[in-house]
Amino acid sequence: MSDLAQRLADVDLRLGEVARAAGRDPGELTRIVVTKFHPASLVRELHALGVRDVGENRQQDLSAKAADTADLDSLAWHFIGQAQTNKARAIRRAARAVHSVDRDRLADALDAAADPDDPVLDVLVQINLTDDPGRGGVAPECVEALAERIAAARTLRLRGVMAVAPLDEPPAPAFERLAGYAARVRAVVPDATWISAGMTADFAEAIACGATHLRIGSAITGPRPPRA
Ligand SMILES: *Cc1c(COP(=O)(O)O)cnc(C)c1O
Repeated sequence: MSDLAQRLADVDLRLGEVARAAGRDPGELTRIVVTKFHPASLVRELHALGVRDVGENRQQDLSAKAADTADLDSLAWHFIGQAQTNKARAIRRAARAVHSVDRDRLADALDAAADPDDPVLDVLVQINLTDDPGRGGVAPECVEALAERIAAARTLRLRGVMAVAPLDEPPAPAFERLAGYAARVRAVVPDATWISAGMTADFAEAIACGATHLRIGSAITGPRPPRA
């Protein structure tokens, strides 16, 4: 087995153990492999190992790798990074889902970027779990208003919420708050059931708090190469 295959198998085993320990069905988890800074050839290797959900946090990398791997069967790209509104069209072209919608203007830009025959775009409201506005995500008190805005957009489908754990706080209480915000979003859109949370360092806590979509990078890909 290659090192990559081994790491993927180890992470998947661990996800299953953690889910069962939390009384959850591992089958309800989607494991997204974050391939940022790695070449498209790694995405091909992952695809050959059965990976179908991959994530990128920069629009240029998303667009380049999605184009490079367009021949791969049923590969779904998840955009997980901060997005500029002038990149909405490019993001929409490449991504199946955008996890990082954190303001009305971005929701509006993604909606306006749809071509007439485009499929509906899955989007998540990214919520800032810190007091630092620079970290990305909508402030918790604005979550419902943004959810309503997305719900009203004809070409967007609100699927749930996304967050990154704070750096200065243990992840579990932060992910518990996220579960509460997720419930508030479901009060607006009942089938917005996704909770995108949990990375290499904190996926166990995220699963215990109800995460449905794990964004896991280095535990699977190995250390990230320095950015060119
Ligand atoms: C890089 C990144 C991840 C994956 O991080 P790892 O610690 O390598 O698992 C997950 N989510 C976001 C938003 C990221 O930018």
